[in-house]
Amino acid sequence: MKYCVECGSEYQDHVTQCADCSEIQLVDAAEMRRRGLPLPHERDTREFIRVGTAEDPLTAEEFVRLLEAEHIPVFSRARRAGTVDVLTTGNPHPWWEILVPEEFTQKASELIAQSKAKMDASADENAQAAEDEELENEQASAPGTAS
Ligand SMILES: [Zn+2]
Repeated sequence: MKYCVECGSEYQDHVTQCADCSEIQLVDAAEMRRRGLPLPHERDTREFIRVGTAEDPLTAEEFVRLLEAEHIPVFSRARRAGTVDVLTTGNPHPWWEILVPEEFTQKASELIAQSKAKMDASADENAQAAEDEELENEQASAPGTAS
């Protein structure tokens, strides 16, 4: 049997793509386990909860690696922005959600929050460096007029 990593549907081995989720590759049960994905018959007993979101696949991958390092079963899933998302967030871009089993949500949320804080800090540093440079240029060309 093979399974869709997006929706979890079960397929015969000769099928290569999910009928519902186009371009989603099917994997075998061992790979589903490796990714911490529930098989269809396990779905009811294991809830996966969204603990974070990412705006690009690299960030999503980083969160997954971070949680895997802590032995938390985790997977990320691309969400295509549908009409509902556009209406509610005004954001037409795709985004990624990070999901873990219910029992790991607190630990995973904390790890993601820490990681995001770190990312924001380095983004701030870069912005600050650019600002300083701009300020120096302004002061050099027009002293006293920088607002
Ligand atoms: Zn599917």
